[in-house]
Amino acid sequence: MLRSIAASVRAYTGPYPSWGAPTPEACRLVTERLAEQHGLPSTRRRPDAQPACVLDSLVRTLLSQNTTDTTSARAFDTLKLRFPSWDMVRTAPLQDVADAIRVGGLAEIKAGRVQAILSTLQEERGACSLEHLRGMHPAEAKALLLGFKGVGKKTVACVLLFALELPEFAVDTHVWEISKALGWVPTNASRDQAYDHLNELVPDELKYDLHVLLVSHGKQCPACAKAGSPKQRAAKPADGGVACPLADLKPPPSQLKTAYRAGPKHRTGDDMRPQSPPEVAKKRRKRKVQPKDST
Ligand SMILES: [Zn+2]
Repeated sequence: MLRSIAASVRAYTGPYPSWGAPTPEACRLVTERLAEQHGLPSTRRRPDAQPACVLDSLVRTLLSQNTTDTTSARAFDTLKLRFPSWDMVRTAPLQDVADAIRVGGLAEIKAGRVQAILSTLQEERGACSLEHLRGMHPAEAKALLLGFKGVGKKTVACVLLFALELPEFAVDTHVWEISKALGWVPTNASRDQAYDHLNELVPDELKYDLHVLLVSHGKQCPACAKAGSPKQRAAKPADGGVACPLADLKPPPSQLKTAYRAGPKHRTGDDMRPQSPPEVAKKRRKRKVQPKDST
């Protein structure tokens, strides 16, 4: 009881202190509606399942940058098959590691980043392992992970949520898009800003389920898909199609708001996206593609 009161009065430190959404009730309602369609994820987890290896989880998430789940899973599986230990990945020629993960794209950059992480762990800890993060204070674990090149907030949030089983609300592209459509974050919020805001407001006990449900839903629902145009999003489902359970919770696009003063700008690790208002961003020259948390 005391713990829940303490958690509920935690001071807001995100970028949109007066935004007011989402409320805990709204988070609960969206979770319930999506769970009716997709099933509650927490009930699908086997209670006796071993927690994921933290380093596996970090590398798996790194490899998922700028590619699909299927190809990044194939890249990870090939890497593990070719190099049975992380120490073998660390000491292998860069080109061999890149060849193993080639299917996921940006292979040389990703291979270099993975090897840099492994070398740092070997130098600082004497072993290629991140299991010492278990039991560490979440803020400390986050800071440690963010210190690695190419590791941004989304990657860290995924490792904390899935491997360390901490209440973190990771924001991937699906969560980001649906949150904007629901009016939970300003339409011009960057993904990291959306994470900084939503991680504060989504109740801890809903973070795992709501994250997994929004990702599943974003992949399956044409009205919520990132690629969907406003027209497609507003269209009624085709005959036999399942209606989007969030349709009546989304304000009309004309009522969605932007925010131009969203706190200090900061870039971390894998976030290469412009964080300025869209009209400023448009004027910027295109940058060279680098891996980022885009999924
Ligand atoms: Zn939908």
